[in-house]
Amino acid sequence: MRDNSWESKADEFSLYGFTDLPSVHERGTVVVTHGKGPYIYDTHGRQYLDANSGLWNMVAGFDHPGLIKAAQDQYARFPGYHAFFGRMSDQTVMLSEKLVEVSPFASGKVFYTNSGSEANDTMVKILWFLHGAEGKPQKRKILTRINSYHGVTAVSASMTGKPYNSVFGLPLPGFLHLGCPHYWRFGRPGETEEQFTARLAAELEATIIKEGADTIAGFFAEPVMGAGGVIPPSKGYFQAVAPILKKYGIPLIADEVICGFGRTGATWGCETYDFQPDAVISSKNLTAGYFPMGAVILGPDLANRVQAASEAVEEFPHGFTASGHPVGCAIALKAIDVILNEGLAENVNRLSGRMEAGLAQIAQNPNIGELRGVGYMWALEAVADRATKTPFDGKLSVSERIANTCTDMGLICRPLGQSIVLCPPFILTEAQMDEMFDKLDKALKKVF
Ligand code: PLP
Repeated sequence: MRDNSWESKADEFSLYGFTDLPSVHERGTVVVTHGKGPYIYDTHGRQYLDANSGLWNMVAGFDHPGLIKAAQDQYARFPGYHAFFGRMSDQTVMLSEKLVEVSPFASGKVFYTNSGSEANDTMVKILWFLHGAEGKPQKRKILTRINSYHGVTAVSASMTGKPYNSVFGLPLPGFLHLGCPHYWRFGRPGETEEQFTARLAAELEATIIKEGADTIAGFFAEPVMGAGGVIPPSKGYFQAVAPILKKYGIPLIADEVICGFGRTGATWGCETYDFQPDAVISSKNLTAGYFPMGAVILGPDLANRVQAASEAVEEFPHGFTASGHPVGCAIALKAIDVILNEGLAENVNRLSGRMEAGLAQIAQNPNIGELRGVGYMWALEAVADRATKTPFDGKLSVSERIANTCTDMGLICRPLGQSIVLCPPFILTEAQMDEMFDKLDKALKKVF
């Protein structure tokens, strides 16, 4: 018999996604009622500093008055609509113009979804549609990387390079995963970082030649891998792979769902890592987490070609009921303004060095093998042996134990594989950053 607690009811009626079940059964789920700034509060009144920003996305915190007002005003004005059949809300038009303006492109076109997964799914369909229309229906294979994360729909999960998708019988045929650009973990003994990058680039070219460039629809990459454990690219990675993709006529799609809108310290991750994609996938920060929304932003070449392909068959036959939802668009317009013009991205730039320095202190712990990251996305990787980089084993991963200990202390951070991930809201103050360091340090000392 269950009692009447929030935790029991959550257990009884929820099919938990991405949740360690033994852990949650033992500890109970945290049932959250409200938030203030970067803090959330549970049904027991406990306060937690959310160094996970919800799920990377609540970058303006949990009670931003401007974002709430943008939502309220738009709900009162026009609460919902689609963006097809020759109709579209004024907010959608305004957001598309703004997105192209702030995009890495001089011109382009935008298509809306409800999530990042759907945006990647949509991009794959756009490529299949385009190549088919251009007389290359066999140009369908999708290249991504091991450890990448692109979502949970059947297509975006097939793109994702994480082994757990095998429980669904995924990936679907035609989704190929190349090497992960994580030098610390995958560099061979004696190999320099430059040689490692060159090896990955050679692997890409060999794969294209083996499969045939005319069978490959596109290459998708997160500028910094997020859910793979915060993995910045190895030195020169994008400068090495981009020309190869160009040479073989394979579009490069930047999955900026996490990196986009300030997380790396620039508007886009591709800016931070200095490469030019052919299209960008955006979500999460796009609405600062205040509305579920994703967007595909096509650069000029793809935009023109997809437009021509659509004209040829009279329509691009794709769209979601809530694509370009006016409330979501109004919130996104405000979120972009808040992030880019009201100092949020600037905060990341100003304080990322402080964040790195504080975490570097904590990473002195002999059981931390690597500190890696950029901007406001960092990971500390736990190792049983620092010299050999040997991971811990055991059923409940050590990162899960660290995250649970942090939760008990009022700090939310995310266990990812053997790593602990810190990706706080952009509004984090220096004092709140110190609170994060202090709690994390104490938790690590408790676990090791
Ligand atoms: N792409 C990346 C890089 C992501 O990190 C995520 C989610 O974390 C997605 C796509 C999927 O987005 P969503 O969870 O909104 O479907």
